[in-house]
Amino acid sequence: MSTKDYLEKDYYAVLGVPKTATAEEIKKAYRKLARQYHPDANQGNKETEEKFKDVSEAYDILSDTKRRKEYDEARTLFGSGLGGYPGGGGASRGGGGFAFDLGDLFGGTQQGAGERIGDLFGGLFNRGGTAPRTGGTTTRARRGQDVESEVTLSFTQAVQGTTVSLRLTSSAACTACGGTGAKAGTTPRVCPTCEGTGAASRNLGNFAFSEPCRDCKGRGLLVDDPCPVCEGSGRGKSTRTIQARIPAGVADGQRIKIKGKGAPGENGGPAGDLYVQVHVKPHPVFGRTGENLTVTVPVTFAEAALGAEIKVPILKGLPVTLRIPEGTPNGRTFRVRGRGVTRKDGTKGDLLATVEVLVPQHLEDKARSALEEFRDATAGGDPRADLIQQARSE
Ligand SMILES: [Zn+2]
Ligand SMILES: [Zn+2]
Repeated sequence: MSTKDYLEKDYYAVLGVPKTATAEEIKKAYRKLARQYHPDANQGNKETEEKFKDVSEAYDILSDTKRRKEYDEARTLFGSGLGGYPGGGGASRGGGGFAFDLGDLFGGTQQGAGERIGDLFGGLFNRGGTAPRTGGTTTRARRGQDVESEVTLSFTQAVQGTTVSLRLTSSAACTACGGTGAKAGTTPRVCPTCEGTGAASRNLGNFAFSEPCRDCKGRGLLVDDPCPVCEGSGRGKSTRTIQARIPAGVADGQRIKIKGKGAPGENGGPAGDLYVQVHVKPHPVFGRTGENLTVTVPVTFAEAALGAEIKVPILKGLPVTLRIPEGTPNGRTFRVRGRGVTRKDGTKGDLLATVEVLVPQHLEDKARSALEEFRDATAGGDPRADLIQQARSE
């Protein structure tokens, strides 16, 4: 008998008694089953012979107070304590006391019980994707749920990327019982009706139907002493705060997926994904079209007419100098390269600066006379002559 067999066998189920059974109840159950399966009463029947062996083995352990206690402890550790002892730490719990107890229990210290237990733990933890076994039942690995969240970013955060803290509430295994549904310190027992398979078959004439076991509702396990926190469901709500990296260049209304940041998986299953709905606040100065930023830059009439070097603000850092040529019309857009939104590949879009020619609202005397002089000097051409001409000819 291997250590694994040992821990996977549910002696209570074999005898058909609850985990809380008294010594008297155990004895009674054993006697009844022993009579039923005794080889003398079942000449040459292999199946009852096996059952008789199982019943005897179960009774050997459960009728001995010390061995029963050790067995219960070992199973509690497997049933609800697995998460608490990752990496086979259970073997070294209490300075090797656990290993010694088990070795003692299995009557095999000379073979290096500690090592075998280490293998057992290792095997359980390294079985990628599949679940730890509890009392002979394989609980299926389940992927965690996807979680939805939303975040409001400043314009600059959206353009440059940022890390935000998100508080997420998701359904998760109950922390009080580790998801077993059994009160802390107790372990669910294998359902004796379905022997842990969770399925019952029903025969209807020539047909056999498989349906979820009624006693355990398909779980394969029964909880005698339900966890008070989750009322035996094994489910709880968990609130976590996670740091989520929002990539540079997200736009208002975008929904981004952050892999593996959803609800944790169960029984070794992978975590779900997190979806974050992004809202971006407008910027008082900059706008955005795709990967380009936009800005409107006021210029004076003189700057537009004569040409100038003007300072243009950028999203982050000191303003850049933009040379606008002589005779720049109102509304012309200039491209300042590499000052836009960061793209996926790390390169950047551009800043599109549109000039807006300002008309002075108030003129000092000197400026007024200079402007009048300018008007008289340029009086030759009527800027509307073509317009009026075209309007007539149509
Ligand atoms: Zn619970
Ligand atoms: Zn069942």
